[in-house]
Amino acid sequence: MAILPITSVSSATKEMASWRTSKPVIEYSKCTRCEICWKFCPDVAIDLVIDPDLKSPSDRFKTLEAPVIDYNHCKGCGICAAECPFGAIEMVREEV
Ligand code: SF4
Ligand code: SF4
Repeated sequence: MAILPITSVSSATKEMASWRTSKPVIEYSKCTRCEICWKFCPDVAIDLVIDPDLKSPSDRFKTLEAPVIDYNHCKGCGICAAECPFGAIEMVREEV
């Protein structure tokens, strides 16, 4: 029987942090709140929140929901960083 790199348990309910070798870090001063990272994350590990303390590049983005990484569920795949059209997500090596 072939062993496939999948799990029968949804990653939305399973903590994936131990898989990670690098983690996404959002630079909010570049983030336009386009939500593309949120749509592409395969692990539902990005939440959208309105938080006036998250510095936005323009006042017109301040009332929009900003992405916040849920590091308990993020497995560090880097898809969000690759898909962000504004270069607002950097993958940073995890400390060991
Ligand atoms: S894809 Fe980039 S610019 Fe768009 S919400 Fe995510 S971090 Fe912000
Ligand atoms: S690195 Fe992967 S799992 Fe983590 S938030 Fe980005 S897309 Fe989701």
